[in-house]
Amino acid sequence: TLPAMNVDLDRLREDLLRFYDRHRRDLPWRGEEDPYRILVSEVMLQQTRVETVKEYYGPWLERFPDLEALAAADEGDVLKAWEGLGYYRRARNLRDAATVVQEEWGGRLPGTVEELRRLPGIGAYTAGAVASIAFGRTVPAVDGNVRRVLARLFDVAVPGAAWLRDTAGRLVDPERPGDWNQALMELGATVCVPRGPRCGRCPVAWACRAREAGTVDERPGPTARRPPRVAIIALAVLRRPS
Ligand code: SF4
Repeated sequence: TLPAMNVDLDRLREDLLRFYDRHRRDLPWRGEEDPYRILVSEVMLQQTRVETVKEYYGPWLERFPDLEALAAADEGDVLKAWEGLGYYRRARNLRDAATVVQEEWGGRLPGTVEELRRLPGIGAYTAGAVASIAFGRTVPAVDGNVRRVLARLFDVAVPGAAWLRDTAGRLVDPERPGDWNQALMELGATVCVPRGPRCGRCPVAWACRAREAGTVDERPGPTARRPPRVAIIALAVLRRPS
């Protein structure tokens, strides 16, 4: 039990992981153990839909099978292979990261969140995902799906970054950290969807505070919008005396 959260953590982990083992979608990068391949899938998924990434993942790996091949590749070829995925900066960053790994890490991707975050294009989410899935580190990976699931599970209107990091970090199953993070994301992608979540099919509905409170549709609430900018413009009209 997690005192501050008052939830049966063992049961939560067990139920969600069982759901993941039974119902996860069959995606090309599932079960992948090679850190580079996991990194590629995570970077592609940052801003592109799963269905599109499925088409590009295999061909990319055929073209650039490892970090060494990617680091040695011509930038034009890299961008060409990325064509269709959008947000090309990701492709450039991936190639730059491959180069840094060759030069500073002897060709092997480093395994901690801190080390991964120093590579180009790798933020908190991607570092957490790669560290947990590829290297078995007990660290969280908070994406939009996880944010929504946690906001509902704990009935929090506007989950702040620190709360999310802390809560997600305390939930990670130390036995299966990568699967745990993927299970939370999978729940958000297939059951705890933004509109019309399928609470009747949810393996952790028993722990869901928003469901109990009847606030599921309001969680998470809209993030505060920035107030509109007020521009003060001074205008002077000069007239030549006629
Ligand atoms: Fe999401 Fe419903 Fe499950 Fe709560 S019970 S986590 S709202 S799917």
